[in-house]
Amino acid sequence: MNAVLVLNADLGPLHRVSLRHALRMLWRQVAVVHESEPDQAIGVWPMPKVVRLVSYVVTRWRYHGGPAWSRRGVLARDQHRCAYCGGPAYTIDHVLPSSRGGRNTWLNTVAACGGCNQRKGDRTPAEARMPLRFHPATPSWTVLAKR
Ligand SMILES: [Zn+2]
Repeated sequence: MNAVLVLNADLGPLHRVSLRHALRMLWRQVAVVHESEPDQAIGVWPMPKVVRLVSYVVTRWRYHGGPAWSRRGVLARDQHRCAYCGGPAYTIDHVLPSSRGGRNTWLNTVAACGGCNQRKGDRTPAEARMPLRFHPATPSWTVLAKR
């Protein structure tokens, strides 16, 4: 049963965990009891209803789908290889061009060399007959960390 609500250090609610998990957090001193059941104790702690993290957790990537988009991140994810020809890439190409509503997202951007970027222009890969060598995906935090 997920009985205990976990609050971030700034009191923003994060998620619910089992009592067991909550006790482990208390024991490891990553969280403290924020609200407890009256007159109930478990070991040395009051029975927690709500626990609060001791240090702030950046929720942007930790709990909500992946790291924030960045040009640098796209190049790191694609290992500076052009998504069209495989050559060294230093620019970002929008799969659906930004002039046509393509956004800065992990799935809509790839690393591309200057030549391919220019040749593709304001076209989709299909229109330009330039198939992608891989499907862009949201990178893991680890991939971005070890660039
Ligand atoms: Zn290229």
